Amino acid sequence: MALIDTHCHLDVGEFAADRDAVLERARARGVTGIVVPGVLAETWDELLACCAGDANLFPALGLHPVYLTRHRDTDVVRLEQCVASHPLLAIGEIGLDYHVEGLDRARQQTLFEAQLEIARSCGLPVILHVRKAHDTVLATLQRIRVSGGICHAFNGSLQQAARYRELGFRLGFGGMLTYERSRRLRALAHDLPLEDIVLETDAPDMTVAQHHGERNSPEYLPYCLAALAQVRAMPEPDVAARTTANARAVLRMDAFVAGRGQ
Ligand SMILES: [Zn+2]
Repeated sequence: MALIDTHCHLDVGEFAADRDAVLERARARGVTGIVVPGVLAETWDELLACCAGDANLFPALGLHPVYLTRHRDTDVVRLEQCVASHPLLAIGEIGLDYHVEGLDRARQQTLFEAQLEIARSCGLPVILHVRKAHDTVLATLQRIRVSGGICHAFNGSLQQAARYRELGFRLGFGGMLTYERSRRLRALAHDLPLEDIVLETDAPDMTVAQHHGERNSPEYLPYCLAALAQVRAMPEPDVAARTTANARAVLRMDAFVAGRGQ
């Protein structure tokens, strides 16, 4: 059973001490691909270095809306340069966050659109971070057509999901599914077509119920798979095969691997 963690911040300090051991345990549990999205320009070099040594790691670069005040005007130019000089799987994570207070919405929008333009011109898929802003993000994606991607930690409506689907996006589900109390999210994961769903951990955040209060890790992705399989009353291997195929296709992972020369 091969699983892909489509959203894992493996480059961050929380994994500095035992990253190799975490990766080994994740691999042993079937997690054969891990997408590592970037959030801040000053961390990109380390992220790329972290992914370069491991065929199972897939780098994405982006400027996360939550760090709005830490991004410099030159960072978007740097993103353009990185796209031209490094093999990247995707642009991300980028998006709009209307949940965190004090983030200037006009500036978020400008930053988001500049990065979507880069994704459009280089043809890379996009990894989206969207909180309380699905309609604005969807309207923006309608105007700036990229080649699809993933809306990470999706928690919108069925109608919004359908609009993401039309725009070539899949929806990321992770650790929150493992909590009984996540009734709305579980209902959503039940009702959506399985073709729309990909798995993610969002490690080191959003830990699964089985390891509540601990650091989250890509090795826990099988718990997310189990929760999704339970919610949909389907055998785990079937859900694994479908969600992995969804991730590989939407992120065009085969093309990336071929381009990276492995
Ligand atoms: Zn993230």
